[in-house]
Amino acid sequence: MVIPGANMSIVIQARTFEKDFARVGRWIEEYLGDPSRYPVLPALAPGEVSDALPDRAPEEGEPFEQIMADFERIIVPGITHWNHPRFFAYFATSAAPAAIAAEALAAALDVKVMLWRTSPSAAELESVVMRWLGRLMGMPESWTGIIYDTASVAGFTALAAARESLGLDIREDGLSGRDVPVLRVYATAQTHSHIEKAAIALGIGRRNVVAVPCDGAYRMEPAALERAIAQDRREGMLPLAIVATVGTTSTTSIDPVRAIAEIAKRERIWLHVDAAYAGVAAMLPEFAYLMDGVDLADSLVVNPHKWLFIPMDLSVLFLRDEATVRRAFSLTPEYLTTNDGAVRNYMDYGIQLGRRFRALKLWFTLRHLGAAQIRDRLRSHIALAQHFAQWVDEDPQWETTAPHPLSLVCFRYHPRGIDDEAELERLNAALLDAVNATGEMFISHTKLDGRYVLRLAIGNLRTAREDVEAAWGILRREAEVLAR
Ligand code: PLP
Repeated sequence: MVIPGANMSIVIQARTFEKDFARVGRWIEEYLGDPSRYPVLPALAPGEVSDALPDRAPEEGEPFEQIMADFERIIVPGITHWNHPRFFAYFATSAAPAAIAAEALAAALDVKVMLWRTSPSAAELESVVMRWLGRLMGMPESWTGIIYDTASVAGFTALAAARESLGLDIREDGLSGRDVPVLRVYATAQTHSHIEKAAIALGIGRRNVVAVPCDGAYRMEPAALERAIAQDRREGMLPLAIVATVGTTSTTSIDPVRAIAEIAKRERIWLHVDAAYAGVAAMLPEFAYLMDGVDLADSLVVNPHKWLFIPMDLSVLFLRDEATVRRAFSLTPEYLTTNDGAVRNYMDYGIQLGRRFRALKLWFTLRHLGAAQIRDRLRSHIALAQHFAQWVDEDPQWETTAPHPLSLVCFRYHPRGIDDEAELERLNAALLDAVNATGEMFISHTKLDGRYVLRLAIGNLRTAREDVEAAWGILRREAEVLAR
C-alpha cells in the first residue's frame, strides 16, 4: 500500500535549519544593533503591502533564502519600528535579546501549557517566575500569578471571577431569561477600554460600567465611588467589581488604591487593580508606594510585555485567591482528565486551553538582565521623561497638561495668543502628523477633559537622552513651520 507523502521529507533537515537559523540570527543582531536606520513609521499607503504579495499560497515549497529576501523587500519596509529609540507613542516598548532567543526555544519546544503533564517544566517554571516577579514588585507573598496573553484577557478573567464570586451561579445558568439584578462595574473615564469590552463579553453591558468622577489629576475620587455604589444599591443594582488603575493609559495617573480598597472591603466588592503599564515600576524602592493598598484588593494585572522588555505577549494576573478563577472556568472533558494529583493545570484558569510557553522568555530576561539592570533602565526612563517635561514647562509656547509621575508626558503646543480650544486642537493634530511624517520619531495623542494633547512615552531599552533631546528639537522645529 502506498501512503501518500510518506516518503516526503517534511521535517526540517538539521543542517539546513542551522544555516537558516543562523541567517535569522544575523538579521536580528543587525536589526537590533541599530533599528534607527529605519523610519519609525513607514511612509506607506494602505494596501501597498498586500498588493506586493501573491493572491495564493505557493503549491511547491520555496527556498528559505527567497522567503527571507521577500521579508526584507516587502515586509520590513512596512514595519512600524517599536524597537526604534525614538518610538514614543502609546506605551513605548522593546524586547530584550535574551527574551527573543527564548521565544525561539519556546517555538521549537512548541508545548501547550494546559495540563501539568503536557509540560511539567513549563507549568512549574511559570509558578516560579510568577513568584520572582511578585517578589520584585512587592506583591503580597500569598498571592499567585498566572500568565495570560494580554491585560485585556487578564482583566476579562478577573471580572469573570468577580461574577462567579457573587454566588448567582451565572456560570451554569447564564444571565438571560432569569431574574438577576443589574450588575455594575465601577471605573473612571480614564480606565482602559478593555474593561468595557469585558463588560460586553460577560453580559454585564457597557452601560453598567460606571464612570466614577476623577479629581483634577485624573484619579478616581473615593467619595464619589461611595456615592455611586450607594445610589446603585438603592436602585436594586448589584455591584460586581471596582477597577482601580495604577498608571492610566492617557496620563499614568494613579488611583488611590488604598482608599478604594477600603471601600471595596467594606462593601464586599471585588477590586481589580490595572497596573498593566506601571506595575513594574514598583520594583524601584522609590515607587514601592504604587502597590500601597494592593494587599486589600482581589486581583492585579501587570504587563511584562509593556515595560519589562518582554516581547508581545505576556501579561500577568496576580490573584489573592486563584481558586475563584478556577471556579469560574474549570471544566474538564473526559479526554483531558488525569491522575496527576495536586498539580496546577493551567487550562483551569481561563478560556484558553492550549497556552504558549511564555514563562521561558520572562525567566531568560530576569536572569540575563538581572533586577539591578532592569531597575536602572526604568529609573532612566522616568528621569528622561522628567527632563522632557521640564523643557516643555520652561518654554512659554508649550505646556504640560497632566501630572507625569512616571515615564509618560502629556503636553501640547500652546502659542501665545491662541486660546481657542478648536484652534489648539487643529494645531496640535497637525503638529502630530508633521512630526510623525518625518520618520524620525513617533508620538501619539489623547484627549483630557475634551482637550487634544500629545503624549510622549519613554520605555524603550535603547532610548537615551539624545533621543529625547532630538524629539524635543523636532517638535519645536515642526511647530515653527506650522506657525509660519
Ligand atoms: N490597561 C492599561 C492601563 C493599558 O495602558 C493597556 C494598554 O495600553 C491595557 C490595559 C491593555 O493591554 P493589552 O494590550 O495587554 O490588552
